Amino acid sequence: MNMIFLGAPGAGKGTQAEVVCKELNIPAISTGNMLREAVKNSTEAGLKAKSYMDAGELVPDEVVIGILKDRIAQPDAQNGFILDGFPRTVQQAEALESMGVEIDKVIEIDVPDDAIIARMSGRRVCEGCGNSYHIQYKPTKVEGICDACGAKVVQRIDDKPETVLARLKTYHEKTAPLKDYYEKRGKLVTVKGQNEIAETSRLTLAAIKGE
Ligand code: ADP
Ligand code: ZN
Repeated sequence: MNMIFLGAPGAGKGTQAEVVCKELNIPAISTGNMLREAVKNSTEAGLKAKSYMDAGELVPDEVVIGILKDRIAQPDAQNGFILDGFPRTVQQAEALESMGVEIDKVIEIDVPDDAIIARMSGRRVCEGCGNSYHIQYKPTKVEGICDACGAKVVQRIDDKPETVLARLKTYHEKTAPLKDYYEKRGKLVTVKGQNEIAETSRLTLAAIKGE
């Protein structure tokens, strides 16, 4: 099954993607994680992406689409995948279609903006493997250390309040129209995401299984 997880920055789509990919044994493909990795390694794509990411703007399509295309061609993605953070514009959705990628379901994790703003300051990400945490809602077992790989967890540069507002604006302008796009194609399922993480996971898995 090929799925897209859609939602505002900080809605928890990355966290839910991690849960669901373990449950269904398919990879979660996060363009944000791949881009951060590219920036860390100063690859050509990373050098192009950095200033956009730091400003909370979208990275140009030719950079992101290239990375995504390579990733979904990998052997582990042949039995299905979860796209987390892609597509983020109607043009990217059309690019996916023209690559011949069939999407079965689009899960929208819906969280009101005020809840998102309140959550963002507690968000942390692992420098090593990219796993996401929250100091209050999803803490690491040992403070500051990733449960999965033992590397340091840090705050993202783009999680500072002014950048969060820019990312929310970008989301509403560029990404939210995808709800309509996939609704019209009969693929959209909306899950309420403002409750506890475990509750959102339960709703997400139920939505995937069509319950
Ligand atoms: P979040 O969903 O929390 O905003 P992500 O980790 O998905 O964060 O993305 C971080 C940043 O990476 C975005 O603000 C954007 O600059 C860039 N990015 C990720 N995915 C895409 C995409 N599909 N198209 C353009 N830019 C992207
Ligand atoms: Zn880690």
